[in-house]
Amino acid sequence: MKIKIITLLLLTINASLYAQNFKGLVNIQKVDSTISVDLMYAKSDNFVGEKMYNFNEAYLHPKAAEALKKANKLLKEINPNLHLRVYDAARPMRVQQKMWNKVKGTAQQNYVSNPANGGGLHNYGLAVDVSIADSRSDTLPMGTTIDALTPISHIDREGELVKDGKISKEAAKNRLLLRTIMKKAGFRPLRSEWWHFNYTTRSDARKNYKVIP
Ligand SMILES: [Zn+2]
Repeated sequence: MKIKIITLLLLTINASLYAQNFKGLVNIQKVDSTISVDLMYAKSDNFVGEKMYNFNEAYLHPKAAEALKKANKLLKEINPNLHLRVYDAARPMRVQQKMWNKVKGTAQQNYVSNPANGGGLHNYGLAVDVSIADSRSDTLPMGTTIDALTPISHIDREGELVKDGKISKEAAKNRLLLRTIMKKAGFRPLRSEWWHFNYTTRSDARKNYKVIP
């Protein structure tokens, strides 16, 4: 009995620690239940090769979550069979450190924000990794998988990528659709990752928002 109570107590402390991590943030699916969530770092099949999240919900700062809801609405206005699918949102700094340790000194280090420099906007709940899914829950072709850290994921030379046969015309069109609705809703795209969108700038985040420990 005593052990059971202690176990329960430890579980409660553990749960509240994680709740504390996301203090001030909101669960995206509570804001818009039609956005689907499939967190890539809650599974071991990611670039680090390790499950790094012990939660399955996507959290964002309330302002970013509202903007994402707006983007999803704009998408449905264009095609009601489509919806946004989130692969990463708020990311604790301790996970950022793990990612940085993995890529430090490799060709991929430009794709990961260094915690020593304050991390990136995911670490504030102000960035989201997102794609588009249809009513059968299949994601639309985008030319690469999410988190493919290669030049084919870059958005500034998609015309050339199509011409060189690196991505299809359809993939380029889908990426443009994603960028159009996300930008209209207030997000900024990132040159090197078609799936990544920032809600604000790094300097604004550092001045006015809190890092997730
Ligand atoms: Zn991202």
